[in-house]
Amino acid sequence: MKKLKDFQNELNKCSKCGLCQDVCPIFELSSNECAVSKGKFIMLHGVTKGDLKLSKNINKYIDMCLKCGKCNNSCSAGIDVCQILNTAKYEYMNGCFISKIVKFLHGSFIFGNFIRFGKLISKPFRPKKNVSKNPTMKVLYFKGCVNQVCPKTDNYLHKIFKNRDIEIIDPDFDCCGLPFLSEGNMERFEQAAKYNLKLLSTDCDYIVADCASCESTVKDYSKYFNTEPVEIYPWGNLIALQKIHFKFNKNIKVTFHKPCHLSNDAFFSQILGNCENVEYTEMKDYDSCCGMAGTFAIKNSNLAKKLMTKKGKNISETNTDYVITTCPACIVGLKAGLFLAGNRKTKVVSLLEFLAKADEIN
Ligand code: SF4
Ligand code: SF4
Repeated sequence: MKKLKDFQNELNKCSKCGLCQDVCPIFELSSNECAVSKGKFIMLHGVTKGDLKLSKNINKYIDMCLKCGKCNNSCSAGIDVCQILNTAKYEYMNGCFISKIVKFLHGSFIFGNFIRFGKLISKPFRPKKNVSKNPTMKVLYFKGCVNQVCPKTDNYLHKIFKNRDIEIIDPDFDCCGLPFLSEGNMERFEQAAKYNLKLLSTDCDYIVADCASCESTVKDYSKYFNTEPVEIYPWGNLIALQKIHFKFNKNIKVTFHKPCHLSNDAFFSQILGNCENVEYTEMKDYDSCCGMAGTFAIKNSNLAKKLMTKKGKNISETNTDYVITTCPACIVGLKAGLFLAGNRKTKVVSLLEFLAKADEIN
């Protein structure tokens, strides 16, 4: 695993062009140069040269980041901002007492038992598996922690794919590791990634995830562990590929929030093309962060509140019945945003929940 020092050349590449500033939602709200990647890199460069220590103050700015990747995508030097920030977080946490508490919470006793207990009590509420002798396709399902505990998504999938002879292979994956990575618990991240990578090599035709953040983290394993990249897609891709037709009896107005970690949302317009009686209105900044971003919302509650309210207002302007998204954390952020914006009409749903509401699915 790389150390912060190993990124010295990357940090040197930063030309201070400021393009990251133009796209960073946190800079837009705070006008604080230390909060955007350019400023963070100046500090971290000082750390790698030994001029600065990874202090509480630097950690505050590492945490003041949505890991939305907007700066990654527009960086003129092609620097992988998130990997550098996650590595810096790891090195900071390594010297802190609080890391012992974080590691205990992430371990098998608390985190592991919570997921195991959730799975056990939700089992009777999950549908029975479709067993087919000759399935047309074998799909390996990377089920995120939220859906390990909550059975609703399994029921939506059962309804959506009921007329397709598809075998869904659903092994016991560990968490994708994003919560561990962003809190600097690299050891637990590595443990989860290596365990998941073994299961991800299961023989199948297609790998899918039900959460944009899980999908992007699984794709990132190759960066951290020098492994082959995993080709993993959102369920939406498979639904679009299968050309499943959804008929709603009543006219429904919808808008879409693109999670920061969703790399490609082309499936959404393809699915809409196969929906009857669904009217789409694009919201302003449909791909900007909802403000949730894991523990960001706890550590930076004022900034999160502003981002959520802005998102809530943008949704409200579309005057739609549903806002659809593909990440469980965004669902929480969008609900908070609508509440803060005073919108009690628009409902927040996952793409799978929305499609499962259709009156006819073929
Ligand atoms: S990842 Fe997003 S929030 Fe963080 S510095 Fe880059 S643009 Fe700003
Ligand atoms: S866009 Fe990239 S190169 Fe330009 S200032 Fe930001 S981090 Fe540095």
